[in-house]
Amino acid sequence: MAETNKSEYLVGVDFGGTKILAGVFDATLNCLGRTKVSTKSERGQSEVIERIARCVQDAVDECDLNMKQVRGVGLGAPGAVDPQSGEVIFAPNLKWEDVPLKEDLEKQLGVPVFLENDGNICLLGIHETELKGKPRNVVGVFLGTGIGGGLIVEGNLYSGFNRTAGEIGHMVIEVGGPKCGCGNRGCFEALASRTAIFRTIQSAVKDGQKTILTEMLGDELKDLRSGDLRKAIRKGDKFTEKVIEDAAEYTGIAVANLINIFNPEVVVLGGGVIDALEDEMMAIIVETAMDYAMSGTTKGIEIIASKVGDDAGILGGAVLARRETQ
Ligand SMILES: [Zn+2]
Repeated sequence: MAETNKSEYLVGVDFGGTKILAGVFDATLNCLGRTKVSTKSERGQSEVIERIARCVQDAVDECDLNMKQVRGVGLGAPGAVDPQSGEVIFAPNLKWEDVPLKEDLEKQLGVPVFLENDGNICLLGIHETELKGKPRNVVGVFLGTGIGGGLIVEGNLYSGFNRTAGEIGHMVIEVGGPKCGCGNRGCFEALASRTAIFRTIQSAVKDGQKTILTEMLGDELKDLRSGDLRKAIRKGDKFTEKVIEDAAEYTGIAVANLINIFNPEVVVLGGGVIDALEDEMMAIIVETAMDYAMSGTTKGIEIIASKVGDDAGILGGAVLARRETQ
């Protein structure tokens, strides 16, 4: 009797500046279980890599499986990533340079690991599940701790000459604007990421700005989350509303630039900021994008918010691992 293939499960990992999320999937992409831990990037790269490995092992264990039953791990990492060498080339949020993440994880986990930029991997997950693999030209824009992007051109992930394409968070949209983690000024990420939004709010509060947020969380705005911004806006906080409107407008301008360059069929937005503030931001993003994109280029283009939420990264990781091990 032929032995069944025991290594049939896939693990997708979403590894960001704030948290690490691992999900275990079967071959048809049903999620069987997931684990989440904080990244603790301040503890240094080897400890972070150990935390990723432990998060994967815990997720597998939670599903009453073992690593021998795992066919592959697909991992999205922030910043410029080389999927071929498996290295994180530069991740400003983590202060990482040339880190052999794939090799280190394969040593610790004993299964094949496949690495991609986090924006690309989120887009891969959304494209395969939510968009059913249909549109051949798609741009993904993900607003979280940083801003990630992904590009599907003519049906394939577009990675570019040094395989680092899709760094749309570092598209400069305000010359001389606020300083970005990458060293430049005025990057999209320095204007509309959660980090940028929180920084704007915190410095205004320090300068005496009144907001419902301090009533909710205290003057230090400790443990501020994107969901708090939504609550404040719904309670009528005009200051927070304006900060979010500005971030949505910058996002719309970035989307217009992407439409002008790639002419995608679908622009999909996601990430923690969009998940929490979709109702407050999407209409402004769409209106601004349509306004700024060159006239005649936007006909039939859809600009949508992903419904996959936090799962985009782990789903994409599973899709990548399935592809690479087929
Ligand atoms: Zn930048």
